[in-house]
Amino acid sequence: MIRTRFAPSPTGNLHLGSIRTALYSWLYARNRGGEFILRIEDTDQERSTQEATQLIIDSMKWLGLDCDAGPFYQTKRLESYRKAAEQLITEGSAYRCYCSKERLTELREKQLANKEKPKYDGHCRDKNLLADKNQPFVIRFKNNQEGTVDFEDQVMGPLSFQNNELDDLIIVRTDGFPTYNFCVVVDDLDMKITHVIRGADHINNTPRQINIFRAFKTEPPIYSHVPLILGNDGKLLSKRHGAASVLQYKEEGFLPEALLNYLIRLGWSHKDQEIFSRDEMIKLFDVKDINKAAAAFDPEKLRWLNRHYIKTLDPKIVATYLEPLMQKLQINYQDGPSLEELVVALRERAETLVEMATKSRYFYEEFEQYQEEAKQHLKPEIAPITQALKQKLENLSDWTDENLHQTIEDIAKQFDIKLGKVAQPIRVAVTGTTVSPPLNVTLRLLGKQRALKRIDAALGYIKQSSS
Ligand code: GLU
Repeated sequence: MIRTRFAPSPTGNLHLGSIRTALYSWLYARNRGGEFILRIEDTDQERSTQEATQLIIDSMKWLGLDCDAGPFYQTKRLESYRKAAEQLITEGSAYRCYCSKERLTELREKQLANKEKPKYDGHCRDKNLLADKNQPFVIRFKNNQEGTVDFEDQVMGPLSFQNNELDDLIIVRTDGFPTYNFCVVVDDLDMKITHVIRGADHINNTPRQINIFRAFKTEPPIYSHVPLILGNDGKLLSKRHGAASVLQYKEEGFLPEALLNYLIRLGWSHKDQEIFSRDEMIKLFDVKDINKAAAAFDPEKLRWLNRHYIKTLDPKIVATYLEPLMQKLQINYQDGPSLEELVVALRERAETLVEMATKSRYFYEEFEQYQEEAKQHLKPEIAPITQALKQKLENLSDWTDENLHQTIEDIAKQFDIKLGKVAQPIRVAVTGTTVSPPLNVTLRLLGKQRALKRIDAALGYIKQSSS
């Protein structure tokens, strides 16, 4: 069975590059009916935080990237690494090294002075040194010094590394703590990972890891190294390019559907298709179609996709995403139209859900004053029109879109003016702004009582400002 994993280090915000590799690993497992595992690589205790771990878990939940096992924590697996290191020593694939810091520094300086690449010289390699509690030692992996490490990367193609370029890697430090490359191998082995999909920044770790796999007499997983994401200036994507952490997109009102769709296309394609539902992504994804070249982040396209999903997704679902943002903006959304109705009314005009929420306030709360640019629509000459409309509305028993539309049209006819000439002042009266959904829809959502009260208030405002 195929097993993939997402193995983030919880050392800060989860950014787009990381979550994209998570998406690809998840999709590959789902496409092949396999399993997807979450592993928190927290052995760097100085930089790892509980907060960052929580961000990873929350981000994956928000995006719907569910895992079949985990999260596993490396710090809870120290005993496995210790045993695995002992096994390698017993089998002659690793050794204890007592070289002092001073010796290693001297060695390094010498090599640099001779213009050689700094590398451990194998001083303790063949000495079979035993453990001495009273003296600090590290455990090093006995890397083959000859030949090459070759592997077929599913994205990058065939890759080859010279063994003599690889050091005798420290796998356990003097404090007994295992090191990164070693933990990854022991984990991938124990967790029966068949396919590793990760950022191209890990390519140089791969030959080292492959050698350790072989020392355990197993074949390594199949690797896919995904090119990195760049900003529009060709530099590695970072905050400077306006790329936020995953959860910040949630806070800014992006839909998980839009972010996933954006991320899958950033480095992968299927013909010239742009829109992919979750099911389609699962059905069509293959690592072989991941692009070799680095992709450039395009915030405009992400916004375009967000607009698309706001408009086309089931409004019930959009409403569930909108709710926490309404809470955050402290809009009293219990007192007014349902969020689902709100979404239907506003979805044509919103690029993000924050924008939608912000524009919805007048449906739920009274506004203090008319927007400055809206005031000009409340002129004395519209008072009679407003008065007439008010009367008609008062008598309207069935407060439906059609009836409201008819009523506005009747008034326009009666005064022999264009529909907009009636609609705009009334819009200002009931929303305080010049932009809203069609007036009949706006009136329906506001409800009769609220709408009439505001029209009354507008009549009062007109009277007061003309006197
Ligand atoms: N922990 C590594 C990272 O966050 C990933 C290692 C891997 O996928 O093998 O970059």
